[in-house]
Amino acid sequence: MAYRNFSTTQLQEMDNAHHLHPFTDHAGLRGEGVRVVTGAEGAYIFDSEGKRILDGMAGLWCVNVGYGREELAKAAYEQMKELAYYNTFFKSTTAPAAMLAKRIADLAPTNFNQVFFGASGSESNDTSIRTVRYYWQLQGKPEKHIIISRDNAYHGSTIAATSMGGMGAMHGQLGPMLPGFRHVMCPYDFELKHKGESLEDFGIRAARAVEVAILQEGAENVAAFVGEPIQGAGGVKIPPPTYWPEIQRICKKYDILLMLDEVITAFGRTGAWFAAESMSIEADMITVAKAITSGYQPLSAVLVSDRVADVISKGGEYYHGYTYSGHPVTCAVALENIDIIEREGLIERVRDDTGPYLLERLQEVIGDHPLVGEVRGMGLLAAIEIVKDRETGERFPNEGSAAVCVRDHSIEAGMMMRAVGDTMILSPPLIWTRETIDEAAAICKVALDKAA
Ligand code: PLP
Repeated sequence: MAYRNFSTTQLQEMDNAHHLHPFTDHAGLRGEGVRVVTGAEGAYIFDSEGKRILDGMAGLWCVNVGYGREELAKAAYEQMKELAYYNTFFKSTTAPAAMLAKRIADLAPTNFNQVFFGASGSESNDTSIRTVRYYWQLQGKPEKHIIISRDNAYHGSTIAATSMGGMGAMHGQLGPMLPGFRHVMCPYDFELKHKGESLEDFGIRAARAVEVAILQEGAENVAAFVGEPIQGAGGVKIPPPTYWPEIQRICKKYDILLMLDEVITAFGRTGAWFAAESMSIEADMITVAKAITSGYQPLSAVLVSDRVADVISKGGEYYHGYTYSGHPVTCAVALENIDIIEREGLIERVRDDTGPYLLERLQEVIGDHPLVGEVRGMGLLAAIEIVKDRETGERFPNEGSAAVCVRDHSIEAGMMMRAVGDTMILSPPLIWTRETIDEAAAICKVALDKAA
């Protein structure tokens, strides 16, 4: 590889001089020096200094089958040789695009039989926004255009996805947000549940915030509600069991579509192909990306329910699409990736073994640590709340600083974790075994001890 001719310092200098990174404070980065990741195998990544790091984040919530999969490299190579690119516009398709659309429809909940492809989660959410608005136009109700979302939601970084998302810091940098989005509270019981309120009642209260917003806007103006089944980048916020059934009741009552953003949760993370399945949510639109290829190629998809697809497909030409919609190489890799997940029984393993074990083990090893306010999880997705006082839940001053300290000690001790505000996140590859989980829990303890 060409980079082998360069030292770490040379690579860092090139990067500092020319690379504008996503979600990065560049002044801070220049001071510290960027980590150059040069390789990976299985559950571990390696940096240019030869440090081996257990990847607790599966890259960026995506490398579900782990690193170094020859089958995926081969699928890409074979497809590039045969047909490196062709578009799927204007009455064309390719074999991988057609096969993957069918494969996803077969795996998805039964009311989903149509799939639209893009290249990123942000694109898939833009597509989803346009599609629900177009659906209501075709239904003769163009005024139904508002999408209700939640505080802390992350739906991507395009202007539409940022406006739909609920990240205050992102809104602050956007200037005027796109109109047509409304945000309500998220079901984050650790911070928002009242003293003495049951978890069940909190779930209902959080869902009813959506109903209040619908009534204020007028149901005749509301197109859809959107939510991640579990808010991921917002801090792995797992809603109480009463939340989604109540949301569904509200959407049905006011004839509002339910859009699920499964960019993080689809393809096994929660112990099912889709969180819609593990959490019994009946949606009208589902967006997926990331683990559809385990991050080996950039691909996303919007799963469109029969209710919506039947209307869209009778509406004449839909003026929407991306050059890389249904890219044959990305689709070929996705097909092979799905085969691996299926062949190796990764979803069953997460559901029946490693998912419950991760939560159990974290609770055993760090559950009563003085810095830990709560450990929660579902499947191979876990969060650790960092607090100053376990009894009261009081946080440290300077939001996020304690979690960043834990994260840095974790990397030092050999595991990549993510700090989101005051929450530590784990979202590892689905190939993690009980032994890997033991190793991860031990590193969490070392990192917390050092930060304490
Ligand atoms: N939706 C969710 C729930 C996400 O977590 C992300 C990315 O982390 C996105 C959308 C955006 O995906 P992408 O970065 O591929 O545009």
